[in-house]
Amino acid sequence: MIPYSRQQIFDADIKAVVDVLKSDWLTQGPAVSRFEGALADYCKTPYAVAVNSATSALHIACKALGLGPGDFLWTSPNTFVASANCALYCGASVDFVDIDPSTYNMSVEALAAKLIQSEKLGRLPKIVVPVHFAGQSCDMRAIRALADRYGFNIIEDASHAVGGQYLGEPIGGCQYSDITVLSFHPVKIITTGEGGMALTRNADLHHRMAMLRSHGITRDSGQMSEQPHGAWYYEQIDLGFNFRMTDIHAALGWSQLKVLGQFIERRRHLADRYDKRLKELPLQLPVCIPESHSALHLYVVRVRSESGRDRREVFEALRAKGIGVNVHYIPVHRQPYYRKLGFKAGDFPEAERYYEEAISLPLYPALDLTQQDFVIQSLQSCFPRV
Ligand SMILES: *Cc1c(COP(=O)(O)O)cnc(C)c1O
Repeated sequence: MIPYSRQQIFDADIKAVVDVLKSDWLTQGPAVSRFEGALADYCKTPYAVAVNSATSALHIACKALGLGPGDFLWTSPNTFVASANCALYCGASVDFVDIDPSTYNMSVEALAAKLIQSEKLGRLPKIVVPVHFAGQSCDMRAIRALADRYGFNIIEDASHAVGGQYLGEPIGGCQYSDITVLSFHPVKIITTGEGGMALTRNADLHHRMAMLRSHGITRDSGQMSEQPHGAWYYEQIDLGFNFRMTDIHAALGWSQLKVLGQFIERRRHLADRYDKRLKELPLQLPVCIPESHSALHLYVVRVRSESGRDRREVFEALRAKGIGVNVHYIPVHRQPYYRKLGFKAGDFPEAERYYEEAISLPLYPALDLTQQDFVIQSLQSCFPRV
């Protein structure tokens, strides 16, 4: 089976992990600090907090921003459930903003319209989570302008987008947001096995997230309520978690970061080949906006109903040939858990229409051209010329 995505591990990655295994530290230690520093430099932002998943990063990001009962968090329905669940972990409520039908990112027009309505109802969001779908940035300038007007915080879910750019700057730089979250799950751009990162320019948010990842404990005497009793002394000053990344995972991430540029170039090359060779087919291909240089986590084609084929037919024909196509995403509000919260079919029609038509084709650095040609030919054979 050719998967839709997978990791690529080099000998240098293996050596970096083995070096940690032979060292004194296994859990969060010097390799975590080194990875945080390297990623913060790469993204041109001062602070990075490594954790055991992007889900944990979203959770501590919401907590650090003070999200709690009575508050609303808004995100895109076209995302992985974690972008919404983080609000529920904090006792807050979730709502969604429909997507733009060409980029599949949160629609700024829909966001602006929903803010006007919500202001009248006194239910403005505390946090908005734009998701950089498939690695292409949302319209962050416009979302920032709305945040300044309505007073919400922004967490960018850049789980797909490390290595991508927006207006010539690396995604993760937080010029338009309070916090940016990355994922290092093996299907994403670079991997640590499991892992995530929260980036910020704000020293206070950095402190709070660093504490929340490790039980809410501080060893900084400046933050303690008592004089330290001795060198062993620490204080728990908040209710945190154990979301730490291990040095073993961090060493892998640090080593992978060195080939991030190469990974993105390879994804770009493969995406260009798909663009050229699929343009004759009755498919809607990904739209690239000039403001963003996508990290190309996903290559999604839409099987338009006008094509006379339906998505499921095409999906099953490709799977039958051993091509591990996938679908990103089932709109979050259509999940049974969210239906129980009151969401229903028809609430976010663009995300639902998109979902009916989307297929993610294999795209990852180790996909070779013969495999890609096989995917292309298999897709062509789904649409015989009449
Ligand atoms: C993968 C993903 C997450 C969750 O990442 P984990 O590291 O697996 O917790 C969150 N949001 C989006 C958009 C994702 O794709």
